[in-house]
Amino acid sequence: QNITIAIDGFSSTGKSTVAKQLAKHLGYVYVDTGAMYRAVTLYAMQNGLIDAEAFNVETLVDHLPEINISFKFNAELGFAEVYLNGVNIEKDIRTLEVSSFVSQVAAISEVRQKLVEQQQKMGADKGVVMDGRDIGTVVFPDAELKLFMTATAETRAQRRFKELIERGDQVAYEDVLNNVKERDYIDSNREDSPLVKADDAIEIDNSDLTFEEQFEKILQLVKS
Ligand code: C5P
Repeated sequence: QNITIAIDGFSSTGKSTVAKQLAKHLGYVYVDTGAMYRAVTLYAMQNGLIDAEAFNVETLVDHLPEINISFKFNAELGFAEVYLNGVNIEKDIRTLEVSSFVSQVAAISEVRQKLVEQQQKMGADKGVVMDGRDIGTVVFPDAELKLFMTATAETRAQRRFKELIERGDQVAYEDVLNNVKERDYIDSNREDSPLVKADDAIEIDNSDLTFEEQFEKILQLVKS
């Protein structure tokens, strides 16, 4: 029987790595909702709607109908990559620059409304593992299994820093740590759908867990 698994939590807690592996293991669809907020942010950057000082909410909202986000399964990678108006942007959305604007974009109600609607359609009638910030609280409040992932900010920043360096981005650890903390703050304090643990979500602190230990623990929860 197919169920809906909601995985929420702070930035860079390893939600997507677990979610991808879980979806693969169960034969479910994996949806990375952070990629969708990042796609809107990239669109805004590419179209001059955001620059270092100014960030125009109204103009971005006017442009929302032009933003079409889709996912296409890549068999080689084993997960669906994100497309913006037909262009694969999977790599372009992972930069520290996109990360530095995305939480401001995700705080805009009109943006959330558009993306949540699309997410709810993607989850209907099939087994789905969806990760984000508001999946267990807003997108699928009736999800059969809800996980809430945490880890110390330093652990998370170390992981993200390593990822960025490995893909060849020139970044400083301090900037990555500050970005992680800043996104946690904005995501937890925005008015619309702030990041909170759903009452019925199971919290998993993975600061001191290996990936295998964590995965095993989650599989047990899926089976129970
Ligand atoms: O998951 P990821 O770190 O890629 O998400 C990027 C940003 O998108 C988050 O920091 C948050 O501001 C926003 N987000 C959100 N709601 C979601 C998923 C992501 O607000 N469901």
